[in-house]
Amino acid sequence: MANLSMKHIYKVYQGGVKAVNDFTMEIEDKEFIVFVGPSGCGKSTTLRMIAGLEDITAGELKIDEDVVNDYLPKDRNIAMVFQNYALYPHMTVFDNIAYSLKIAKYPKEEIKQRVQTAAYILEIEEYLDRKPKALSGGQRQRVALGRAIVREPKVFLLDEPLSNLDAKLRASMRTEISNLHKKLQTTFIYVTHDQVEAMTMGTRIVVMKSGYIQQIDTPRNLFNYPGNKFVAGFIGTPQMNFFDGTVLKTGSSVTFTLDCGVKINMPYALANRIPIRYMNGNKPVTVGIRPENVTVYNEKKMSLEDYEIVDVYVNLVETLGSETLIYGYFGDGTVQDNESKVTVKTLEDVDIHMGDIIKAAIEKKKVHVFDAITEERIKERVPKNVTFQGTVAGSQLTVVGNAIDLPGAISEYVEDGKVDVIIPTKAVSIGKGNIKAKVVLREDVDDCILYELNVNGNVMFATTEHGVDVDDDTTIDIDLKQIMLDAEAYEIAPLDMDVTFSGSIMRDKASKVANQCRFFIEGYNCIAPDFMVRKIYKSKGKQSWTTSLDFKVSIYQVFEAEEGIACKVDTVLDYGKERFVKVIVNGKEYIIPSQDRQVGDEFYIQINFEETQVIDSGLDIILV
Ligand code: ADP
Repeated sequence: MANLSMKHIYKVYQGGVKAVNDFTMEIEDKEFIVFVGPSGCGKSTTLRMIAGLEDITAGELKIDEDVVNDYLPKDRNIAMVFQNYALYPHMTVFDNIAYSLKIAKYPKEEIKQRVQTAAYILEIEEYLDRKPKALSGGQRQRVALGRAIVREPKVFLLDEPLSNLDAKLRASMRTEISNLHKKLQTTFIYVTHDQVEAMTMGTRIVVMKSGYIQQIDTPRNLFNYPGNKFVAGFIGTPQMNFFDGTVLKTGSSVTFTLDCGVKINMPYALANRIPIRYMNGNKPVTVGIRPENVTVYNEKKMSLEDYEIVDVYVNLVETLGSETLIYGYFGDGTVQDNESKVTVKTLEDVDIHMGDIIKAAIEKKKVHVFDAITEERIKERVPKNVTFQGTVAGSQLTVVGNAIDLPGAISEYVEDGKVDVIIPTKAVSIGKGNIKAKVVLREDVDDCILYELNVNGNVMFATTEHGVDVDDDTTIDIDLKQIMLDAEAYEIAPLDMDVTFSGSIMRDKASKVANQCRFFIEGYNCIAPDFMVRKIYKSKGKQSWTTSLDFKVSIYQVFEAEEGIACKVDTVLDYGKERFVKVIVNGKEYIIPSQDRQVGDEFYIQINFEETQVIDSGLDIILV
């Protein structure tokens, strides 16, 4: 039983292959985590780093309270089961399972008891006297699991343990491993390239591609809310249908136009999680529709409000018993290209043949949308921003039917006239301020609650935890330092909440303290805290002294001091409730909070190292 914490873990192999990048996740005790992704995506490397079979280039791996980066595999209290279960052929099943306990010199009685318990759990008690060659593949795999179980590890690591088995056995072993997890009540981490295995076994799944985590989520969320086109295509069989297209909002209705000519109309309420900038009718998007969400039209069961009905020319029919897959093209068959290609899935008993033109029904609220270039999901679960048109007059901004007094930091730079106002969801707090709002929807989204609000007929979102419910009247406050104003003649960016200073690290040869090092940060020379030196040196070794470092820290972790980084105030930014100054450091601009500094003031600042991230700026690796 154990929690695992992985923070900014990287693996760079000799020769420079970056196999794993910034792997960060917390694993709770008793979870069944699956790492999944195509071959070469870095899943085995990550597992091997957890096991201690591979060095961690940078980052921190914790098992319960201990940082175990430097622990030998045997001291991590972890057991690993591989694809090649490599049983000793000359030993009986009992001796194979008992082997590691014998090596560790456990008393005979205890070994016997542990082996018997494991054999009981795995239902292989009657084979204990047999040699491996007298066992089936599935039984051998169970013996391999038995070897892991007897060690009573805190964490089980399984690297493609079923890939040597045939399809039928694989399916039954999947269930057995899931049951084993329930019986043992221990943390499991399981690596596979098979998305079906991942979806059926994992409590949470980590989807990886080219060394990067794509999404960490429950099977249900991965299927319903894939974070990007890769995840959308990787999870689910048959694969999601993808179409190039555009989106246009006219009044309160939204039309998706696919390049093949198909149009999907829906009320704005079903599309209001798509940022408005994508709805101008010409920004390219990728529309994703799962085969289960484009089914054979059934007039009696499907209302035209919820479904868009389209013709599909049938090219191939696969009857699988409980479901039927229809491969075809949108339209009447005159055009049969990639843009119009579609897979339709139905659970109904249908009599459909090649050459038919059928009516298919697209479920409007299940349509996925991705940016055509970045491939990121744009129909967001929690919208990052909403955009409205506003008007500036003097120092007042009128937006969503409310007049808001702009603080000096903004009003000084605006001009009268129309302006786009971009309001991040995180800038909206419910139950504060004086803008009237009505709660339209309240949705539990994993780690937060999302509220959809009606503000004078406009849709806004908030995620602040607050005891309001659907239909409640409330008020909201907008944090003006986080909004963006975009007009023809000017643009006001949200305040950057982090600063990044450049620097380097050097040995302090003059110091009497062993291994003392110093940082040079924007010309400020200071003692480098030991916990930072150790992490940097562990990753970079002798290269530490020649590596360019970035020091990234929240602006609220910057403070004035007697000595430090020299800076000079260029501008005062007054946000009413909060005050900031723009300072110049070595010719570069930074914004930091300050109650009383005035233009021209010169002073020194330091940063709170406890809260600072140190980045190898060349390789773009977080070292601390
Ligand atoms: P997966 O388990 O997802 O198939 P791996 O973790 O085995 O992927 O590999 C990730 C990447 O690291 C691949 O590009 C692979 O070629 C590379 N790699 C793996 N092991 C080594 C090694 N010992 N030396 C150099 N590169 C390696």
